[in-house]
Amino acid sequence: MSLPQDLPKTYDFGEVEQRWQGIWRDEDYYFDRASDRPPFVIDTPPPYPTGNFHIGNAFNWCYIDFIARYKRMQGYNVMFPQGWDCHGLPTEVKVEEIHGITKNDVPRDEFRKMCRELTLKNIEKMRLTLRRLGFSVDWSNEYITMLPEYYKKTQLSFLRMLKDGYIYQSEHPVNFCTRCETAIAFAEVAYEPRETRLNYFDFDGVEIATTRPELLAACVAVAVHPDDDRYTGLRSRRLVVPIFGREVPVIIDDVVDPSFGSGAVMICTFGDKQDVHWWKQHNLDLRKAIDRQGRMTAVAGPYQGMKSGECREAILADMKEQGILLRQEPLEQRVGTCWRCKTPIEIMSERQWFVKIIPDEIMAAAQQVRWTPRHMFLRMENWISQMEWDWCISRQRIFATPIPVWFCAKCGEMILPEEVDLPVDPAATRPPHSCSACGSPEYIGEEDVLDTWMDSSISVLNVTGWNGTSVPDIFPAQLRPQGHDIIRTWAFYTILRSMALTGNRPWDEILVNGMVLGEDGFKMSKSRGNIISPEEIIGQYGSDAFRQWAAAGATTGSDIMFNWNDVIAASRFQTKLWNIARFVLIQLGKRSFDHEAAPEPLADRWLLSRLSETTAEVTEAMELYQFDRALKAIREFSWNILADNYIELVKGRLYSDDPGRDSACRVLWETLDTLCRLMATFAPHFSEEVSLYLGQGSVHRKVWPTPGPVDQEAREPGDLLSSLVAAVRNYKHEQGLALNAPLGRITIFTTRITDDAGDMARALNGPVAWERDRSVLEKKPGEVQFNMAVIGPAFRKDAIAFMDAVRTLPPGQLTTPPHTVTVGGRERAVPEGAFSLQFNYLVGGERVDVITVDDVIVTVRKSP
Ligand SMILES: [Zn+2]
Ligand SMILES: [Zn+2]
Repeated sequence: MSLPQDLPKTYDFGEVEQRWQGIWRDEDYYFDRASDRPPFVIDTPPPYPTGNFHIGNAFNWCYIDFIARYKRMQGYNVMFPQGWDCHGLPTEVKVEEIHGITKNDVPRDEFRKMCRELTLKNIEKMRLTLRRLGFSVDWSNEYITMLPEYYKKTQLSFLRMLKDGYIYQSEHPVNFCTRCETAIAFAEVAYEPRETRLNYFDFDGVEIATTRPELLAACVAVAVHPDDDRYTGLRSRRLVVPIFGREVPVIIDDVVDPSFGSGAVMICTFGDKQDVHWWKQHNLDLRKAIDRQGRMTAVAGPYQGMKSGECREAILADMKEQGILLRQEPLEQRVGTCWRCKTPIEIMSERQWFVKIIPDEIMAAAQQVRWTPRHMFLRMENWISQMEWDWCISRQRIFATPIPVWFCAKCGEMILPEEVDLPVDPAATRPPHSCSACGSPEYIGEEDVLDTWMDSSISVLNVTGWNGTSVPDIFPAQLRPQGHDIIRTWAFYTILRSMALTGNRPWDEILVNGMVLGEDGFKMSKSRGNIISPEEIIGQYGSDAFRQWAAAGATTGSDIMFNWNDVIAASRFQTKLWNIARFVLIQLGKRSFDHEAAPEPLADRWLLSRLSETTAEVTEAMELYQFDRALKAIREFSWNILADNYIELVKGRLYSDDPGRDSACRVLWETLDTLCRLMATFAPHFSEEVSLYLGQGSVHRKVWPTPGPVDQEAREPGDLLSSLVAAVRNYKHEQGLALNAPLGRITIFTTRITDDAGDMARALNGPVAWERDRSVLEKKPGEVQFNMAVIGPAFRKDAIAFMDAVRTLPPGQLTTPPHTVTVGGRERAVPEGAFSLQFNYLVGGERVDVITVDDVIVTVRKSP
């Protein structure tokens, strides 16, 4: 068999990557529902369609693509779907910006349409980046959460969970963002440090400290600790709220910290979570002082209509005027903020929809999932164990899945749609029937919409084909890959929903990746100016180099710092591998060879052994998702073992008519083919291109290589052989000889190698003898070497006389110098290190130089 020789001299990644992206067909990556191969279903994260598939996404998708390609080569029927999690505030804000409107300026439906149009455009842009990165996405399983075929499943899942008692509505305090004007879930509260002021004021004779004086209007009680002697007289009293003049009770509760401020605290509805506990426990009044837009309500009397911040300043000014503001101190505080817009959240009591959280059920399912890295499970465990409130799923927004519920206008009875009619928008359509309780045809459609996590937490149910009739055969999925920033949201909610809707865990495994940091080690942000886009990197070094950076830059699960040097190193490795491939293919193409030739020479058996070990190492690393380890093993093998050692050893054989040429060709062919397969996950374009020249069709349709047995008789002697060649080459270099300069006889004293098929002789350009018997090597005393740096200062003008005296010493005294010698008739001390005796080595009576490699002695006659 002959092979094409015409590999271009340099690897043009731009041309190659673009060409293959045009040739590869989407169908090759479709999941085959009729196949009997084992399924490997990936619950890919659906990104938010901002129009920008950023480096963090790209990094995450590299991991997914490595796995998808690896599993396909392992014979799995892989599903690598691509979803888009569309709903939410950022798009609403963008639409308002683009059209110069606010959401209330146009009908809800029209506003939604504008959001959908923008989203579709953004998805299109992001699809292009996915394709440029060479991801083997299954586009036949793409889903878009804002489209009816998806959100009808969200609505169906809502109705099922409502019927099963998982979903309920209730008036309950919730976290509320007054800028987004919507309730948010606990998982969406981000805690941030802020500097604030602690204000001490006189509360009807009791000193109280508060950071939020604007909530005075919402004060419903004052609490003190039962053992706090300062307040024993207060117990049965009521206190008058300053400025507002209302009376509130004093309650006793041992949760109060007597050492904070004055030890007396005011309870407001609601300053924080603790207020909610007290409010429930002591059955206190509810006073809503702040409305959904963050303005003071009628409850705040003269402050009504002010923003809460204005109200704070106004109340502090009034306290000052009344002489009741005692002092103010700066305070470092962690404030709960809206994770999207960073506005401090308010806790408000609202009628909202909730999903019941059953911590034990979620924990049991989370424990059945294999977590990589393992410690990420602890984050989930911590989050589950601190669950106090149910998941608030209603939002007061527009661009989202409508809550499919109507209420009877007369009696308030809930009216549900028929499942076959889904999806529905109750704010725009009629219910299917009149009220079943009172018969009234009057209804009110629910205007609240669902949290976007309600859409995305059924991603796995959607891709596995759930439609409410039964649990799909391919559920649970095999793998959920995702970032550690969404463990308490996406991972948590998905487990919750899967348990509620199927009674089973959503996936067998979860693989958690880290975040991408800027070159400066900080999180990428516009304000730091450290954002780098995947396109920028691909443009300069190509997708395959980018993908290798993602694999090699960090251990799985840890954050990864972007680093141009890693990308450049990846690109250099590709160049190296291209040069290797080119050399090999040219050799293979020169003359036909026997593909079945048995590898007999030591070097060939050794290389195949090393290749087997590398394949085993890479396979194990891939199984454990240790991509950095896998790529490192491939690089070390290619660079050190193959290029620097093996090829140098066998070059001569390849150029010769030696019968061993077939064996070397066969080994190189097999090695290159295996390297293409191993690299196909990380560098799909590059591997495909080299495979093309190997002439065996697409590498992506090949199977993953199986490591062969390690040939123990070749492994260690082969390592020695390559060390010996390296040592003699190094000797040539030190002697100022050209690497191809001829040498005289090279004798190697070892029992570990008896035959190397002549490789060493050809590699070093000199005759090689393998000698078991060390007695052939003679050692004879030679010159005395003087150290003038010692002798000069010690003997000055007598230095020459001293050296002459030394030369006359008997041989025994030259190896073990005497304390003194006679110089010019005087006994002179012999300074330490003044001279040493050199030995000459001879083989067969001829002078040779000696090199040692571990315990092996090599002698070289320099001249031929
Ligand atoms: Zn917000
Ligand atoms: Zn009714």
